[in-house]
Amino acid sequence: MSERVFNFSPGPAVLPEEVLEQARQDIWNIGGTGIGILEHSHRGKIFDEVISEAESDCRELAHLPPDYRVLFLHGGASTQFFMLPAGFLPEGGTADYVNTGSWSKKAIKEAKLYGHVHIAGSSEDANFTYIPTAEEISYSEAAAYVHFTSNNTIFGTQFASAPTPPEGVWLACDASSDIFSRPIDWTHHGLVYAGAQKNLGPAGVTLVIIREDLLSRSTVRELATMLRYRQHADNDSRYNTPNVFGVYIMGRTLKWMLANGGLGTLRERNAAKAKIIYDVLDSSSLFKGTARADSRSQMNLTFRARSEELESMFIAEAEKQGLVGLKGHRSVGGMRASLYNAFPVKGCEALAQLMRDFEARYG
Ligand SMILES: *Cc1c(COP(=O)(O)O)cnc(C)c1O
Repeated sequence: MSERVFNFSPGPAVLPEEVLEQARQDIWNIGGTGIGILEHSHRGKIFDEVISEAESDCRELAHLPPDYRVLFLHGGASTQFFMLPAGFLPEGGTADYVNTGSWSKKAIKEAKLYGHVHIAGSSEDANFTYIPTAEEISYSEAAAYVHFTSNNTIFGTQFASAPTPPEGVWLACDASSDIFSRPIDWTHHGLVYAGAQKNLGPAGVTLVIIREDLLSRSTVRELATMLRYRQHADNDSRYNTPNVFGVYIMGRTLKWMLANGGLGTLRERNAAKAKIIYDVLDSSSLFKGTARADSRSQMNLTFRARSEELESMFIAEAEKQGLVGLKGHRSVGGMRASLYNAFPVKGCEALAQLMRDFEARYG
């Protein structure tokens, strides 16, 4: 598709072209019904199939143990920042948070509205350029849960594996920007959430995977109906009208991930893609990666050039060549290449080539 460019945007982000092609058709007329997906009732047969397939494909892809529920909720990952503590952090209780960047900080801010927050580990001392090691994390006595951000979209760092919480304590994970980019070890996870717009689909639907026993616990406080996970689970995510289109696109994207070999294969592919760029960074005297080597993200690669002037020139030149969305987050500057599942290898090669060319001219 010649009119499409390489989209390095951090989110909303690139989606698989096959999914977009299919959606183009299904918006007009899905399954020969003469009605498009956007126009079908959320309680009708067509959407029944869409949502139940999205759930079963999610289970298959994630190798999800049977005692977890899959929910399609609203309000983005940012709503989970408060829905989680509202549901599970009792007044006077403590939840542990690992602070690895802007999104962690936002989650911490919301949790403080409901109870105490213990910062179990933090990389704020070095502008979030690394992931604290197990030795650098210390938990509180009786945490309600341990929250971490598996991938730090803005700072370009990623947990190599989930932290190990204390005995009997469950993990809550904001996986918005790396969910299903690699296999997930479910051992300690009680709740995983992700806004869809990075690796799963369009903005406006949030995937929440929650362990069954957490749903059957008595709630820690009185909650408005829409804030109860239990309510959404009991109604199969259709207590109110869900984001039908968001669920549809996510469902098709999950099928695409399955057809592309599943999470093990995607991890290999994502690692190979990221390596193309990191290899250039590691041999460059003009460009420099910002994350510590052991903490580098495979999804969002952050780097700087020797001067801000060169950075602006580089971003402008990239854009001219159809490499779009490389400007770093306004809070950190520099460049950021987001290489989500649907981002093609060819785009990584094109960026690496441009970096080498640029260095040959200005290095
Ligand atoms: C983008 C992002 C969010 C915010 O998601 P919304 O759906 O916009 O609320 C939260 N956490 C992480 C890690 C993100 O990358």
